[in-house]
Amino acid sequence: MDIKENVESVMAKVSAACERAGRDLQDVSVMAVTKYVSAERVEQAVAAGIKHFGESRNDGLLEKKQTIQTPVHWHFVGRLQSRKVKEVVHECDIIHSLDRTSLAKEINKRYQGETPIACMVQVNVSGEETKAGIAPEGLENFVRSLASYEHIQVKGLMTMAPHAENPEDVRPYFRHLRELRDYIQRLKLHHAPCHHLSMGMSNDFEQAVEEGATIIRLGTSLVGNETEREG
Ligand SMILES: *Cc1c(COP(=O)(O)O)cnc(C)c1O
Repeated sequence: MDIKENVESVMAKVSAACERAGRDLQDVSVMAVTKYVSAERVEQAVAAGIKHFGESRNDGLLEKKQTIQTPVHWHFVGRLQSRKVKEVVHECDIIHSLDRTSLAKEINKRYQGETPIACMVQVNVSGEETKAGIAPEGLENFVRSLASYEHIQVKGLMTMAPHAENPEDVRPYFRHLRELRDYIQRLKLHHAPCHHLSMGMSNDFEQAVEEGATIIRLGTSLVGNETEREG
């Protein structure tokens, strides 16, 4: 797999989606999710110009960070167990999966930095039981409640769309997340500027960009999946 080619192909698609939506390409960050691949692949992606990397497991994050010398941005995108918070809270720039009060409490307790840590609140827009995230109805209350954690800054919202054969089918979920983001932004909460929309993965990132994604999270389509068997 040639990562440089993947990056070029993805960037062309992102660029076309931006054009269709009248958006500025610079407002979309492409994150490589590296949970399925080795550090070597991460290095190739760095060489191909990717600056944002996402991991969903602590050991993956720590291991890859160690081997990559170039300064890049690290994101934690997976379900975060409270007891693991202390291991990652100073190792990533953004936590994308803030989805409960107990987690906020733990992040706030463990994080020591001069400026707050950037978090995305994960929202379960599809309502699927298997998915993590705050229900849309509870979002405003949850975000407001985060004001009491001085080390947390709510930079945006994140969602995992349901799997669909046709990516057009998930567009309404992306649109819904954007509307929720706009709503929270209008509240003008000091601790929640809520500018970002972390949405869109390998199968549906073009729809996500058209609907306003500012960070797309690409695993398979960008760096591949080394855990899948060949053939
Ligand atoms: C694995 C993962 C991705 C990337 O998935 P692909 O379909 O391989 O692009 C994105 N976001 C999260 C939270 C993930 O865990």
